[in-house]
Amino acid sequence: GPNSGKAELFAWRHREASKNKYFPRNLREPGEPRSRQEPPGGFKSDECLKAGGWGKNVCVALGDDGCISEVKFSDTCTGADTSVACLLPAPVNAHSHVFQRAMAGLTERRGKNLVDSFWTWRELMYRFLDQLTPEHVEAIAAMVQMEMLEAGYATNVEFHYLHHSPDGTPYQNRAEMADRIIAAAEQTGVGLTLLPVHYEFGGCDGRSLTRGQIRFKNDLDDFAALCQSVRPTLKRLGPDACFGIAAHSLRAVSKDSFSHSRNLSSGGPFHMHLAEQTAEVDEVLHHLGCRPVEWVLENIEPNLDCCFIHCTQMLPHETKALAQTGAVAGLCPMTEANLGDGIFDGFNWLEAGGRIAIGSDSNIRISLSEELRSLEYSQRLRDRSRNVLATSALSTGRRIFESMTLGGSQAAGRKTGRIEAGYWADLLAIDTSAITHVGSNGDIIIDTFIFAGDDRLVREVWSAGRHVVTSGQHFAHEQITENYRSVLFAVKDWL
Ligand code: ZN
Repeated sequence: GPNSGKAELFAWRHREASKNKYFPRNLREPGEPRSRQEPPGGFKSDECLKAGGWGKNVCVALGDDGCISEVKFSDTCTGADTSVACLLPAPVNAHSHVFQRAMAGLTERRGKNLVDSFWTWRELMYRFLDQLTPEHVEAIAAMVQMEMLEAGYATNVEFHYLHHSPDGTPYQNRAEMADRIIAAAEQTGVGLTLLPVHYEFGGCDGRSLTRGQIRFKNDLDDFAALCQSVRPTLKRLGPDACFGIAAHSLRAVSKDSFSHSRNLSSGGPFHMHLAEQTAEVDEVLHHLGCRPVEWVLENIEPNLDCCFIHCTQMLPHETKALAQTGAVAGLCPMTEANLGDGIFDGFNWLEAGGRIAIGSDSNIRISLSEELRSLEYSQRLRDRSRNVLATSALSTGRRIFESMTLGGSQAAGRKTGRIEAGYWADLLAIDTSAITHVGSNGDIIIDTFIFAGDDRLVREVWSAGRHVVTSGQHFAHEQITENYRSVLFAVKDWL
């Protein structure tokens, strides 16, 4: 057929790629400190959203270990060579599939199906990822992580399911692809929580995986072996890197496998896609006899280790019951809008004490301010109301921002989300000299960032004390962008 030439080309590329085994060139020996631009000993912040609320003239001291060593009020910061206008905790990006970034913009047209939906999007994704080599994935991951840092996130929680070569056979190094994500994190300085994903079959009926999906598949033993290989490599990134587990979804993992794979996390975070699309809910209901949230409540004892990605399809009783478990709802407002998933019940979730984190998921666009804006705007459009997620004490922006930094910390298994001694120095400085911020202080700074500004206001970012973004730009911006550009030329030539 017309595609066979392309298929041969892809196969050739993969053979070539597997010859150049250069990993782990980027990683040093265990115990050696991770390369980074030297953090300042400390700096002064005119306005600082520290634990407990806003403070003016706050000195934040950083230790050599990447943690905040002291936070105090003072007009003069001894040893401070930097001062910033407004300092916030830099949040976690709680859900990402890095490789999908390279498809951004390719799926915005109708297919032959009159009802164009999530499912046709998934078809294109499968065809696209057929061509991705480990080298491609490393370059894409570096780009995505860099974009996350420049948007103000300090941490990438990577829900990593692209494990094998296109015909489904494992690479010689079973953890080749995971190692590439780790190598990218070494390059970018992002805080990484890596979640190898268990994926067994192609639907709730246990049907086998199709051509596009066979790169994801592991049985339990193979998955355990993969995890065993990933953990020591991840450790070499440094003590802020974190290991966790994900089970893809109820569509891809059997009931028994859920508990087996969850045990492999040994206390680290456990994530799964939960209830994204109505078609998914119908499939689960048909095969398992209950809705996804009901199934989870009955079968896997959700707790503080759990993060459920896409809690879009929930009935009121499910929202309340799941919120009360202390598990995090992993929201992906821009992807959920892009895929037409539906609207998360943010008001009732937060009312019930529910925790939230934000992820960029498909990475169609990476923007912290726009994710938060989309979350609130979806609530407003549904309820024909304003300030849906605000409280009487906290503005909308402040409530969302603080909720997602704390929930993100929980979802990432990372001591972050607060500007307080002992926490990782995951910090974000906002430019308040921008015209949008004239005369603003306190909560209004965050509201203006989210609703009136954009990520260009993000000036400085530290991840575990690594000063990765300076004056709005990542320290390796040019090189990472060039690598990514050449990958796009290579992988888009089939279009
Ligand atoms: Zn996802």
